[in-house]
Amino acid sequence: MSDSPILKVAVNVPLSREFDYLPPQKGPEPLVGCRVQVPFGHRQQVGVIMGHSGDSAVPAAKVKRCTEVLDSTAILSAADLWLIRFTSSYYHHPIGEVVAAALPSPLRHGKPLHSTIIKVVATDLAKRTDIVALARRAPKQVELLEALLDAGDDGLDTDLMTEILPAWRRAAKGAANKGLIETLETRADDFDECLVTPRSAAPKLNADQQQALFVLRNRDQFGAYLLDGVTGSGKTEVYLQRAQDILKQGRQVLILVPEIGLTPQLVARLRDRLGIEPALLHSGLTDSARLTAWRAARSGAAHLVVGTRSAIFTPLKNPGLIIVDEEHDQSFKQQEGLRYSARDLAIAKAKHLDIPVVLGSATPTLEMLQHCRDGAYEHIVLPARAGAAIPPALRLIDTVRTPASDGISEPLAEAIHKHLDSGGQVLIFLNRRGFAPTLICNGCGHIAGCERCDSRLTVHAGSRQLRCHHCGVCRQLNEHCGECGEVVKPLGEGTERLEDSLTCRFPDAVISRIDSDSTQRKGAMHKALESAARGHANILVGTQMLSKGHHFPKLTLVGIVNADQGLFGTDFRSAERMAQSIIQVAGRAGRESRAGEVLIQTAFPDNEFWKTLIEGGYRKISDGALAEREITRWPPFTRLALLRSAAHRKSDAHRFLEVARRHLAEKGVQSLRVLGPVDAPMARKAGRYRAQLLLQSSDRSILHQVLGELRPLLENEPSARKVRWSIDVDPVELF
Ligand code: ADP
Ligand code: ZN
Repeated sequence: MSDSPILKVAVNVPLSREFDYLPPQKGPEPLVGCRVQVPFGHRQQVGVIMGHSGDSAVPAAKVKRCTEVLDSTAILSAADLWLIRFTSSYYHHPIGEVVAAALPSPLRHGKPLHSTIIKVVATDLAKRTDIVALARRAPKQVELLEALLDAGDDGLDTDLMTEILPAWRRAAKGAANKGLIETLETRADDFDECLVTPRSAAPKLNADQQQALFVLRNRDQFGAYLLDGVTGSGKTEVYLQRAQDILKQGRQVLILVPEIGLTPQLVARLRDRLGIEPALLHSGLTDSARLTAWRAARSGAAHLVVGTRSAIFTPLKNPGLIIVDEEHDQSFKQQEGLRYSARDLAIAKAKHLDIPVVLGSATPTLEMLQHCRDGAYEHIVLPARAGAAIPPALRLIDTVRTPASDGISEPLAEAIHKHLDSGGQVLIFLNRRGFAPTLICNGCGHIAGCERCDSRLTVHAGSRQLRCHHCGVCRQLNEHCGECGEVVKPLGEGTERLEDSLTCRFPDAVISRIDSDSTQRKGAMHKALESAARGHANILVGTQMLSKGHHFPKLTLVGIVNADQGLFGTDFRSAERMAQSIIQVAGRAGRESRAGEVLIQTAFPDNEFWKTLIEGGYRKISDGALAEREITRWPPFTRLALLRSAAHRKSDAHRFLEVARRHLAEKGVQSLRVLGPVDAPMARKAGRYRAQLLLQSSDRSILHQVLGELRPLLENEPSARKVRWSIDVDPVELF
């Protein structure tokens, strides 16, 4: 064996191992954390060097050589590689795929860390050339030269050239041959941390906020803090001040938010108060904008980094604090591929970096609450609204006694009138988009269903379509039943129908619907939210998009239509989820001087859930749910992992899980419960049959040990070739 070390390389393939390579013959030194180009099968792949080793389990003659080292310095630090390793082992996911998830797309595809801009400039010779003479022979070249001469010594970058003179490249050839133009390569401009003058002064914190800040200021080292404050209690104020301390120390603050598109107000507030333009990382950016922000976080040029889920993998040069805003939000958990929880990784990362992590929510998850009870995390409570605002009053409307027509009952309609008359804004919440969730035939009772899923098609009246919200399939909406020819009727309501019905009842009001259908066009969401915040719209109708952290100053009434969806849910988290969604949307009401009111339409007003929620708030619901889960042994008192499989044939999906179950049974692990395989709650989706096997244990390490042994067995399992399968550790959806 030669002296050159073996490189342990993570390659983006679905196998749970690193691959051995020899360094290339020449080029930069292959440091840990650098990317390399390697031959893999018949292709070239980009990988990351995870480590060096003296020897390889592969016979020396078979170890291949890297084609090229792509970076001269490590693009991922030891801390970054630690998080990647941790993620791979905690979620039992192939390391190369974790690396791929951690890198911005251009880097994943082998592009350089610093992109270069190619500019075209006019040479000195061009300046002396007789343009008029040239124009006769080569008018296109003159056009090009004139543009470049106008641009001066900086020249023009090639993208801009293409915009101005789409066919410039042909002319450029001739001009370059004559020595009239040349190209220059420059490094793309880096992130410029824009300092803006803080526009708003911090309010004087109330006693609870001061106490919270005092606790947070106790430690610059690791500590997990659950900032549990009712909606509008001033949690954001507390983080802002803590973030400011850290920024003053010259260290970086990473803020994870559920969806940036939904939180323009938060971003604006950060900018205005902290006086720094944050580096943003989210899926709505272009690749190059995302890479610029990533690089700025990595180099330390950006001090304030705000991003969605995947931003947790962003390298930070000098981190001082991580904040997870709206910790309970499900968007922190990725539901496909690498099924990680950015919130949980934030805690792991903070611990590794030995810095504090603050988790904020008005409706904390039971997992976080239980950690506080165990004493692992610190529970900081803000029990009251900040400033003068008082919490909104919750009241039920019994839809059996006062039925709703087109979604709106008489008492709700009256309340809307009252609030509009006194200048208030109204929010009507329904977590179902489209016109109606069901299309039924008046004659034969046939219900329009999706051919690829076990689901009904939703009526979208505006676009005259029937759509499946699970697989995206679209069909034209016909007025007659395909089975018997009778007239069909939409049943139930979605936001679109509510909008129609409100328009009929309140013809003078400006009504704005905000859901994922109405905000598809670029910028539409931003505009709708801004108009809502300014109070231009009188009635807002929408889905949970409207419930997330917004501050609509004029909003005084929230109406919750058909709140019963979660009352009899089958998931053990149904009650927790439903309480979260109601409290969050209710929290939009009465955030300023005028008191808010919340009306909830339900056909089951006597259900114990309502009494608990109205009398005891989220606290009472979460206490009750925790007590119940302790008895029934659901999380957080046990740990779960879900093994999923999907196949075109139902038997294949089940057979694969049967194999997994047999492997587990052979091990005979005590204190591991294996449930299934069973059909997934939606057994067929997008043409595939889905099944699942649930693993449960009160001992996390047992679960991990078992999964660690199971994964490689499954990777080599012949029946795996017929299915798509995945492991979901700490699943938040059981289907
Ligand atoms: P949360 O993040 O808990 O929802 P925010 O920090 O957004 O709460 O505060 C809600 C509203 O109360 C905001 O308009 C904020 O400016 C205001 N506010 C927060 N703290 C105070 C305070 N101490 N005095 C007066 N107003 C405050
Ligand atoms: Zn479908």
